[in-house]
Amino acid sequence: MMSEAEALHRQCPQLLPQNREKTIYDGFITIQDRDFRLRIILPPDAKLKNARLQCSVHLKNVLYGYHQIVKQRLQHSCDLSSFILELKTILENALKNRQELYAPPPPQYYSCLVKDIENLGWDKLVFVDSEFSTIQLKVNDSAGREHQITLQLKTNYPLEPPDCVVDFPVPFAITWTPQSSLINIQKQFMAALDSMKEFWDVMDEIDKETWVLEPENPTRNATTRRIAIGNNVSVNIEVDPRHPKMLPECYFLGADHVVTPLRSKLNNNIHLWDPENNLLENLKNVLEIDFPVRASTSKSDFSMDCGICYAYCLDTAIPDQVCDDPRCGQPFHQVCLYEWLRGLPSSRQSFNVIFGECPYCSKPIALKMSIKKS
Ligand SMILES: [Zn+2]
Ligand SMILES: [Zn+2]
Repeated sequence: MMSEAEALHRQCPQLLPQNREKTIYDGFITIQDRDFRLRIILPPDAKLKNARLQCSVHLKNVLYGYHQIVKQRLQHSCDLSSFILELKTILENALKNRQELYAPPPPQYYSCLVKDIENLGWDKLVFVDSEFSTIQLKVNDSAGREHQITLQLKTNYPLEPPDCVVDFPVPFAITWTPQSSLINIQKQFMAALDSMKEFWDVMDEIDKETWVLEPENPTRNATTRRIAIGNNVSVNIEVDPRHPKMLPECYFLGADHVVTPLRSKLNNNIHLWDPENNLLENLKNVLEIDFPVRASTSKSDFSMDCGICYAYCLDTAIPDQVCDDPRCGQPFHQVCLYEWLRGLPSSRQSFNVIFGECPYCSKPIALKMSIKKS
């Protein structure tokens, strides 16, 4: 029968004991013609489960992610030679997986992809990276809007579907079989675009007809718009992309004396909302207002910047405190107004309400401090 030392020597001829007690081994382990430096330190009782492995940087890299398996094998191997045998198996697997991960795609990947692009038309290609792994296609929807889809291809394309990134207000997923090609993605993307046509019609009309204060440059996935109603008054609407003609969520911003009547009109006139009509028309009917038109006003007329810090967005807060004097109506951030009023000797505080003067018109202003969840 082979001794433990012989078995170890056969497994790993370059790993040699460094002391008489045979508790320290140093040398190399060879896998796929590659030598990796390895040092094994056994405790005085020579029990493997308490052994320490010192690996070279290369070996560490290969074993990255296999830490738990190695530890487990150490605990369950009866002697050093059987552990080395296990370690070699782990290393072989790890190396194989790494090669698959970093291997360039096979030649048929490129030929298949080029054929796919030819079928699609090279003019549909907006971008392709030097590895041919990321490609961007453009697709026009039935209303003539141009959209883009970015595809991240796997090296085993077309066996596995590419990852798709689109500018969409709802989740977009593709169905894929190993026989699928870029044409299938294009078709599915077009069908998805069609399902969003009504939503983008609604949003485009708002962007075209009104002053949208926010977002500044709406992307195709943006479902909210803050529309100017008048000086320092606006409404924030959240449109449901799947039901764009239904009554959107409305949130008014502005002085109480302007906003309160708007809110009650919205409540009282809800029955006037006609889903057959377009959204802007419905909003006008229900709120009994006309939105300022772009032809006769400029966006700066509806500035909602804070009158103290002159910014609109402070961290994530917007200026939601408004001077209630009808001739003023200046908006402020809650924090800005709080700091301002606290610094004035004429201000007084009662519980969480501060009473003071508006920095703009000097009329009385009250600020109720609230902790808002954003
Ligand atoms: Zn401010
Ligand atoms: Zn004021």
